Amino acid sequence: MTDKGYLRKIIHIDMDAFYASVEQRDNPEYKGKPIVVGGLPQGRGGVVATASYEARKFGIRSAMPSKKAQQLCPHVIFVFPRFAAYKEVSARIREIFSRYTDLIEPLSLDEAYLDVTDDKLGIGSALEIAKQIREAIKNELNLTASAGVSINKFVAKTASDINKPDGLTFIGPSKIESFMEQLPVEKFFGVGKVTAQKMKLMNIHTGADLKKLSEEQLSRHFGKIGRFFYKIVRGIDDRPVQPNRETKSLGAEDTFSRDLTTLEEMVEELDKIALTVFNRLQRYQLKGRTITLKIKYSDFKQITRNQSFTNGVNDLATIAETAKELLVKTFSEDQKVRLLGISLSNFGESIPYHNNRSADNSQLELF
Ligand SMILES: [Mg+2]
Repeated sequence: MTDKGYLRKIIHIDMDAFYASVEQRDNPEYKGKPIVVGGLPQGRGGVVATASYEARKFGIRSAMPSKKAQQLCPHVIFVFPRFAAYKEVSARIREIFSRYTDLIEPLSLDEAYLDVTDDKLGIGSALEIAKQIREAIKNELNLTASAGVSINKFVAKTASDINKPDGLTFIGPSKIESFMEQLPVEKFFGVGKVTAQKMKLMNIHTGADLKKLSEEQLSRHFGKIGRFFYKIVRGIDDRPVQPNRETKSLGAEDTFSRDLTTLEEMVEELDKIALTVFNRLQRYQLKGRTITLKIKYSDFKQITRNQSFTNGVNDLATIAETAKELLVKTFSEDQKVRLLGISLSNFGESIPYHNNRSADNSQLELF
């Protein structure tokens, strides 16, 4: 539960042995074989970026010196990384995610959090969305991904790791506390080798052990992160899924059962859409500097109009009024409207504009 009182639906998706799987897919001769993507073992020696599952059976792991990998498995095949290819696949995976939500927080090329509390297709079930995403990745990209589904980031991420590779794990709200209790401390976010060692000396091995300590005790022994442990072991993790700057937009749109003909009815619909957009922005604590209005006419012709601001916008009045102004400018009596949409984009930092001149949203451009 978040402080706003609703349950979120979070998916963590992690591609299985990503670089190695892409290489095995693109080079059939590597299929079913132990391969290592990374530096060659010769010379000063490289490091393993990713090992295929066949190579992992020999104990080969990421970040291990390639020389050691070769000792563990003398017939392992070393493959030089093709980052451009992985980036391209990563973009295709991102595109699959974006069919369901714009709230995507990539952690790396092959891993991301998705907030699907309010999914674009109205599916409503995070488990179903995770299934569909895994299927799309399999069918369209010929790769496998593992997914964890829960109500917060930490549990979702931990869950995605449980049935790897090609796994799907759902930890529902009623299962979270018992899930956290059995979890070894090493698996907790923020517990590195040193902290784990310290915990072992204190006879803390699992979440259940951690739970016996008060918030005060935890913060005394582990500092600031101790308070986080206190919450996380109780399944509380309010960290929002934070789309990065690449996130294009967040918005809402509506296709009408009957085409709209008058400005009055269009304005009425825009008000409703603006409210949905406003709620989404609130939920994800985002401000956008560009407001875009999308109009699709009865002949399926589509136009967009946008307006940008120097500072991020997230208030209902500005969103609704701006959308209406943009609508009025394009309105013509003889065009029927079948869809209206409002979106916000440009979620990055505010543009510095005339040094502290004004906190207002000065208009930058209008087109
Ligand atoms: Mg991965």
